[in-house]
Amino acid sequence: MSCTLPKIDWSRIRSDFPILDQRVGDWPLIYFDNAATSQKPRAVIDALVRYYERDNANVHRGLHELSNRATDAYEGARKKAAAFLGAASDEEIIFTRGTTEGINLVAQIWGAHFLKPGDVILLTEMEHHSNLVPWQFAAQRSGATLRHIPITDDGMLDLDQLGKLLTPEVKIFSFVHVSNSLGTINPAAELCRCARALGITTFVDGAQSAGHMPVDVREIGCDFYALSGHKMCAPTGIGALYGRRELLETLPPWHGGGEMINRVTLTDSTFKPPPARFEAGTPDIAGAIVLGTAIDYLEAVGRQNIFEHDRTLTDYAMLRLAEVPGLRIYGPKKDRGALAAFTLDGAHPHDLTTFANTRGLALRGGHHCTQPVMKKLKVNSTSRASFYFYNTHEEIDRMIEILLEANKFFGG
Ligand code: PLP
Repeated sequence: MSCTLPKIDWSRIRSDFPILDQRVGDWPLIYFDNAATSQKPRAVIDALVRYYERDNANVHRGLHELSNRATDAYEGARKKAAAFLGAASDEEIIFTRGTTEGINLVAQIWGAHFLKPGDVILLTEMEHHSNLVPWQFAAQRSGATLRHIPITDDGMLDLDQLGKLLTPEVKIFSFVHVSNSLGTINPAAELCRCARALGITTFVDGAQSAGHMPVDVREIGCDFYALSGHKMCAPTGIGALYGRRELLETLPPWHGGGEMINRVTLTDSTFKPPPARFEAGTPDIAGAIVLGTAIDYLEAVGRQNIFEHDRTLTDYAMLRLAEVPGLRIYGPKKDRGALAAFTLDGAHPHDLTTFANTRGLALRGGHHCTQPVMKKLKVNSTSRASFYFYNTHEEIDRMIEILLEANKFFGG
């Protein structure tokens, strides 16, 4: 029996993404802004068109062919999302607009139901604003207080502080799985195990992990996990929230409207069980169905293969970035997610990112919605190159040439 992994034809996989085959000015596009949003394979684009050409109708309660087809595909996508995340049942999957909406949903309804003055919400200093602001609202509404696990100088969570911070007053611990500005991969299962031992509810922000590595919510042992479809080959405007069933069943509805009710009178209503209870109004039907297509696509490529490919690219990028004089890289030196954030002496990150664009290289410059991380790093912003499985070593070589050119241009 052979133990070697099947050889993957990554250049064939890259050709599934029509958008990558274009020039920006005189230069071939190099798309290194994948942490902001990923590109979409032909299969996903075609599925979206096919849905609108053949099956479009509103879901549930329809008594005609198209509605039945749309409903089957929509609920089929829920099953795919459940399997993708290792959920026990598709009833644990709520379709959302993305990670931000998933966090807001839980911060609002779980927060209103379970938080009281004296309670503590534990977060980390490396959270995206989407995992800070909703909890600030929840704290203001409930009288709970916020606590944060600090970041070490090498961009890791300072887990020596965990014993002091993870105390019985903590009611929820919400943390990012993979940091979008440092690239840190947090030990989600270990953190959830520590929290669970104290009966603390856990929320994992999976925006940067779901599309990049195998994820099993039951192995992680979290109560909630949120993802954004657009960061994993699906369109914008669709995402999923996993919630452990027993917990979802204790929660009241969030938005009121159609589809989430059992019975309505002029003065009161009763509500469906989860997940319908949390999906008021007409959902993004096409988005959910095509999220299912993206999941099929990622599973066919293989999530472990994607993780290893991302890792190889990122290790190579880290090695080569060290050759650029005056360039400083932030975050862990190794074992990081598929991104590198850096600054170049003498160049404002916005100017560097704009310079890169004149050579066809799409980086992102800014605070990456992590202003507290920037404060910790003592910078206003960084430039970020973030990779996905359709990127190549040659593109990284070209990025290094552009950065060496930028170093001269900005007088390094
Ligand atoms: N959390 C992390 C770690 C992110 O990187 C992002 C987006 O960049 C979000 C949350 C928010 O995702 P969305 O804007 O898709 O809701």
